Amino acid sequence: MLKLRAEALYEATHREYRLYEKQGQQISTFYAENVFGDAEMRSDLSTEVYERLINCIVRGEKIDHDTADAVATALKSWAMARGVTHYTHWFHPLRGATAEKHDSFFELRDGSPIERFKGSALVQQEPDASSFPHGGIRSTFEARGYTAWDPSSPAFIYEIANAKTLCIPTVFVAYTGEALDNKAPLLKAIHAIDKAATAVCQYFDKDVQKVTVSLGAEQEYFLVDKALFMARPDLIMCGRTLFGHSPSRGQQLSDHYFGSIPRRVTNFMVEFETEALRLGIPVRTRHNEVAPGQFEVAPQFEELNLATDHNVLLMDIMERVADKHNFRVIFHEKPFKGINGSGKHNNWSLITQDGRNLLAPTSKAKENLQFLTFLVCTVKAVHDYADLLRASIASANNDLRLGGHEAPPAIISVFLGNQLSSVLEELEKNANVKVGKGDNAYLKLGISKIPEIILDNTDRNRTSPFAFTGNKFEFRAVGSTANPSVPMTVLNTAVADVLCQFKMQVDKELEKEEKKEVAIINVLRRFIKQSKNILFERDNYSNNWVDEAKKRGLNNFKTTPEALAAYRTKMSKALFERHQVFTPIELEARTHLLLDEYIMKVQIESRVIGDLALNHIIPTAIKYQNKLIENFNGLKQMKLDTKYVQGLITDISQHIGLIHQMVTDMTEERKRANGLDSEINRADAYCHQVRPFFEKIRYHVDKLELLVDDADWPLPKYRELLFLR
Ligand code: ADP
Ligand code: MG
Repeated sequence: MLKLRAEALYEATHREYRLYEKQGQQISTFYAENVFGDAEMRSDLSTEVYERLINCIVRGEKIDHDTADAVATALKSWAMARGVTHYTHWFHPLRGATAEKHDSFFELRDGSPIERFKGSALVQQEPDASSFPHGGIRSTFEARGYTAWDPSSPAFIYEIANAKTLCIPTVFVAYTGEALDNKAPLLKAIHAIDKAATAVCQYFDKDVQKVTVSLGAEQEYFLVDKALFMARPDLIMCGRTLFGHSPSRGQQLSDHYFGSIPRRVTNFMVEFETEALRLGIPVRTRHNEVAPGQFEVAPQFEELNLATDHNVLLMDIMERVADKHNFRVIFHEKPFKGINGSGKHNNWSLITQDGRNLLAPTSKAKENLQFLTFLVCTVKAVHDYADLLRASIASANNDLRLGGHEAPPAIISVFLGNQLSSVLEELEKNANVKVGKGDNAYLKLGISKIPEIILDNTDRNRTSPFAFTGNKFEFRAVGSTANPSVPMTVLNTAVADVLCQFKMQVDKELEKEEKKEVAIINVLRRFIKQSKNILFERDNYSNNWVDEAKKRGLNNFKTTPEALAAYRTKMSKALFERHQVFTPIELEARTHLLLDEYIMKVQIESRVIGDLALNHIIPTAIKYQNKLIENFNGLKQMKLDTKYVQGLITDISQHIGLIHQMVTDMTEERKRANGLDSEINRADAYCHQVRPFFEKIRYHVDKLELLVDDADWPLPKYRELLFLR
């Protein structure tokens, strides 16, 4: 039931605070209490089983029956001791956040009830998966797919109300072998970059055996009171406001950022953070964001696969806990026009098995050459595969954010900071330095100076879509609703590919050059030359950059249909196939799904705009207009001045007429779009023929909002959505 604005406002301003019983407890006393982590495995599994399992995790080996049975039995006892009755394979389908199907441990054996959990049920399940999106890989009559345990992400207990479920992270794969989820390709990309980065590390340190990827995902979001949310059909249906005049006070005063957090919001944060911490999600940072009503939560970084599971789980927890505090969390990239959008900054780096960050400069010259190698290879990867990175963050939502208020543009570029940029310039210029047998190569090549320059010298550029921030890169263009595995799969595959190129070229150099350092520098120099036009240090938000980028030949794909075309190129298919991340079929299926999703989103928004305009806005305006006409007649009878009222009536009439006309035209365009045969044509039509109506219709609706009596206006206004607590 849709709420009335007045009723919703009353409710929103008369809320009681919800307090949370765990408030104030030390985090270390409950951290990860709901996770079957390393400590639990060690204590609950025999040494032999534990070691076999760890081998499977570290080396990606297959799990045998006996190990699986032993782990399942231990998991069951651990979970049952905590009141768990059901288990589920938990996975990330291609659309929507996560999926689960709960089965209970309980079964009847010869009529007697017992609790059982076999290794086979742990390792593999066959959910009836016909309704999960697959992009054409399976037709419904052969809807067979299976979920398979991912032992590298620990099982956890998820509590909803009083039901406790053991969740087992899994991948979701078709019987024909194609991935039907977001985790399987991510794991493959992680494997690809591990292999490539480890091989490159061998030039510097023979002891490196494994390189892992780290991710720290900063999550931005808005909070809106639940009653007000429920009074906005556009928020309910689309996750964003389709109408709404900007408030007289927006974020001009910049008084929200890092400001004090309202009490009701703090209570919400404490509760969801605690729930997250109990699940081993190491959330650490909370603060207000730039826009009113906008906030951020950031965990400490973790291994990429785990960090991704944690981000997806965190979003789910936030939604559930928000409800208890009578809030709605809005993860949409651009819920309010004219106000900051929300991103999910993906902080990314590479770390060796003994914890050394390959993207952190140190005070040792040798390590710095390694640092420069990984830095330059990453820059080249972004340069070579910029279009794929753009595709990886493309969605109807993010199109609204990119290039808007306080968000990076759709042009992919890299920010390194002045100091580091000049280091690369020097390196590039410093051609043909002769390094003799007894020379200190690092000194001669100017590398021994680098550490002092870089350490402590990380300036920030918050306008860049991809910025180096001292010891990691930050992919800032990623949208707030995104599953991080999508951009991370592309980024890691791209960097893996360049690392392979690097190794090949260095090995070639080594055939004619005996000094390893010189060979490496020669290749780096070449890479810098080839990729330096992706580097940009100044304001990415400025119009000058748009012009300059064009001159540099950098793409600026403003819309999703344009951006997704990159996935379908030869280069893209070759890249993902080379590293065994996606087969061409999988890639095509994903592109298909993304286009389809785009079409559906724009279609739904267009329908909601039509409904709202015709059934809410126009009737309200007419009602008010009738009052004005009555007033006009009265004034006329009394021979008083009617000019103002008449003008108002005319204005309202004009807006109503135009809205009605445009909604009719938009509906026609929609019909035409639906009739087109290919998906890409439909997506283009929705993008270029249907979507442009949104802003035009909105303009007149927002004008009416200013004209119509405030008491009659049906939708909660921006000032109410954004500033109420
Ligand atoms: P901000 O960008 O807001 O200034 P912080 O420096 O607090 O952010 O870090 C943001 C995120 O980056 C956090 O999640 C943090 O754990 C993560 N981070 C820090 N170092 C690394 C790293 N080496 N690899 C990946 N993420 C990292
Ligand atoms: Mg950041």
